[in-house]
Amino acid sequence: MRTRVLIVGAGPTGLTLAAELRRRSVECILIDALDKPLSWDRATIVHPRTMELLSTIGVSDELFETGVHQRFIDIFSDGAHLGRMDLAETDSPFGFNVNVSEEVTERAMSRHLHANSGTVQYGHRLTGMELADDRVLARIAHAGEEYELEVEWIVGCGGLHSPVREFTGIPFEGHSISQSWAVVDTTIDGWPWGHDTNFAFLDHDSVILTPLPDLRWRAYIRPISDTSDLIEDASTIIRRYAPGASLIDNANPTRFHCHTKVAADYRQGRALLAGDAAHVCSPSQGHGMNSGIQDAFNLAWKLALVCHGDADPRLLDSYEAERRPVALTITSSGDGFETMQTLKDDQERAERDASLRATFSDPQARHGEILAEAELNISYEGSPIVVPSGSAGTGVQAGQRLPAAIGLYPLIGQMHTAIVIGEHSSLVEEVASTIRAAYGGEIGTVVSLALDDPATVDADVRAAAGGVLGDASLTILVVRPDAHIGLRSDGAEIDSIRSYLDLIRAGGR
Ligand SMILES: Cc1cc2nc3c(=O)[nH]c(=O)nc-3n(C[C@H](O)[C@H](O)[C@H](O)COP(=O)(O)OP(=O)(O)OC[C@H]3O[C@@H](n4cnc5c(N)ncnc54)[C@H](O)[C@@H]3O)c2cc1C
Repeated sequence: MRTRVLIVGAGPTGLTLAAELRRRSVECILIDALDKPLSWDRATIVHPRTMELLSTIGVSDELFETGVHQRFIDIFSDGAHLGRMDLAETDSPFGFNVNVSEEVTERAMSRHLHANSGTVQYGHRLTGMELADDRVLARIAHAGEEYELEVEWIVGCGGLHSPVREFTGIPFEGHSISQSWAVVDTTIDGWPWGHDTNFAFLDHDSVILTPLPDLRWRAYIRPISDTSDLIEDASTIIRRYAPGASLIDNANPTRFHCHTKVAADYRQGRALLAGDAAHVCSPSQGHGMNSGIQDAFNLAWKLALVCHGDADPRLLDSYEAERRPVALTITSSGDGFETMQTLKDDQERAERDASLRATFSDPQARHGEILAEAELNISYEGSPIVVPSGSAGTGVQAGQRLPAAIGLYPLIGQMHTAIVIGEHSSLVEEVASTIRAAYGGEIGTVVSLALDDPATVDADVRAAAGGVLGDASLTILVVRPDAHIGLRSDGAEIDSIRSYLDLIRAGGR
């Protein structure tokens, strides 16, 4: 094997991408300018959608066991409770955010990388690159020397100041967030409430508390000034809700200047961008790292097919088509939260509070907020590599995520998976066998799920499968390695699978 891909930056995005490429036997090199991994980093919240994806590669267990299961989000303003979100109201088996400090998530992903014979080359800094039609020449500094590396693809996962983005000249469009952020890890002595909740206090000089293991908290603070005492800033707000409480064992007080920016392009020839290199947003909703990991899941299987010669490089354009709209949504949502959180005018704050109360007391509006928080509302309907569901009027549509309640995530492999769901086991088995015989080389796993088979289908799975089926009595789903449905075909006819696989091979419409 020769090195096909250079990944620049070993944060959560680069680690996930490298591990997922290695799992598909793609030779890649992952470099980071740091001498060793950070011992502390910013992000705490791993959302349900990311946990679902991590469950397909066996990484969710470690986070599930280590992290705090944060089920609720409670929003307050000026001493009053405005509303609550309960993530258990989703259909995900992960009805909670998993809260751990970012370096724990990175360690879990590093183990996945090592398990797939990959490693990080620390102390290697990308200093330059030349893009040609057939290759990329990268210049890398290491231990006082500079060397050149020729690869087929380069992926910029280097964060906000991504050198790959800067060398390509791809514009990073957006703005800086004017009011700074800060975080501090703390124990709140005298805390009167639970530890399974994210508390957003939208007071003047707002504080958000996210729970961490060992009854610790990470306080996300809007500092009163650039030189204010962060502990004092946080304590003032927290004592309003927990009189007499004090912040003890404080660690890692750090200030950040944040930005709302999205790269104009995610691909320029043989260079691609992912994670913070492609998009940065307000940290208020905890979408940055999650989106980076999900970028990597979206890109890895496509890049692997291209590297193995099994798909046209045009397939990589579907990565931008699917993931850039997600970045635009989360950056815009983050801007909305920033505006809401930093209002100073009393009248505007009163209107904001009334609007939040109305949202959280309306079940439908609240559910929409919960799905967005959990990142379970992401869909690739309209993507150039998703076959529109056509006549399938009800049930889950192509482009949407496979509902995890169906219980099949651990079976999703590195190739496409076909799932045959139907009311009668004899027909389901027959169709599944035909798919195995016709497409065994291209479809990794074929799973059958018959609703009349109580021995193998428990009540929850049957309910989820019924929801997927909708009005149909039998449907075939072709599920992508990132657990989105690429094709839904109702009925026993299997030729549409050929058309779908040809579409992937051609790289899209
Ligand atoms: C205060 C705060 C709180 C946050 N909380 C959350 C949260 O709860 N949940 C969430 O999802 N997100 C959160 N985020 C965002 C999250 O931290 C980032 O989105 C995430 O770390 C981005 O990961 P990444 O791998 O894309 O980039 P990074 O983590 O920035 O990694 C980039 C890597 O590239 C390396 N690099 C840079 N230049 C070079 C070079 N020339 N050569 C080689 N290597 C290079 C760097 O050393 C670095 O290791 C928060 C952000 C902030 C500021």
